[in-house]
Amino acid sequence: MLQQTTVKTVENKISEIINIFPSFYSFKTKKLEHLLKVWSGLGYYNRAENLFKAVKIINNIYHGELPDNRDSLISLPGVGKYTSSAILAIGHNKKSFPVDVNVKRLIQRLSGLKLKDDEVENILNSACKKKISYRSLAESMMDFSSIICKKNNPNCSKCIFSSFCKSAFKSFENNKNIKRNNKQIDFYLINSPLHICFIKKPKFQYYKNFIHLPSNLDEEFIANLKLKNKEKIKSFKFVITNNLFQINVYKFNLEKFNINNSVWIEKSKTKQLALPTLFKRILN
Ligand code: SF4
Repeated sequence: MLQQTTVKTVENKISEIINIFPSFYSFKTKKLEHLLKVWSGLGYYNRAENLFKAVKIINNIYHGELPDNRDSLISLPGVGKYTSSAILAIGHNKKSFPVDVNVKRLIQRLSGLKLKDDEVENILNSACKKKISYRSLAESMMDFSSIICKKNNPNCSKCIFSSFCKSAFKSFENNKNIKRNNKQIDFYLINSPLHICFIKKPKFQYYKNFIHLPSNLDEEFIANLKLKNKEKIKSFKFVITNNLFQINVYKFNLEKFNINNSVWIEKSKTKQLALPTLFKRILN
């Protein structure tokens, strides 16, 4: 869950998710849309989809127990080298070294070397000759590098490694400029007296497991609706991965009618729908 997502964002969600999905077995009585609904706000919804598929395999093949070997873990959807290392070290306390950007930065600074992930792992592996708590090591390196050896302005004066660190007291640029692609998209809030119109097969490439509000990308759909007198009701910026979208929202009032690819949802029920944050923001 923490991939590409801040601890603060996950912190606000984790207890809600655990309440609804307290165990692997609890997934058996739930559908993907239940998970997507509670995942709303975390983004990167393919992670929820992979989690759902992975838990199915864990229940069916591994009797509800998270595997404790790398091959089985890596065969699960969404689990790669890093996640399997983190599960082995933190979940099973086995000799394994999850190397995330923070840990890599810490070891690179200490050694003064530019290293690949595998090389960081090898250094840690050869430094840990005796049996230790691999769980504590993994967690403490992650915490230490994100609290003390921070990306910008590391706190070298409080660092226990400063006497031998090859990068101690060097200045690290405070470069917060992230390059994003600027894009614009218009979404259409099409209202009948009691319903709102959604589209089943949208052209907007994100959030593929959700129903969508129609947008200007859905040209054929919009042409069929013959929308007139559009009223702009909202405009805001929204970031999805490395894209910064200028979102414009237009409102139309229409009588409800059937058109291929449309789904009309009662306005009073839109709050219970599994929807990504973007559409919630448009609707609220
Ligand atoms: S001395 Fe500074 S740069 Fe080196 S590990 Fe500590 S905080 Fe990081």
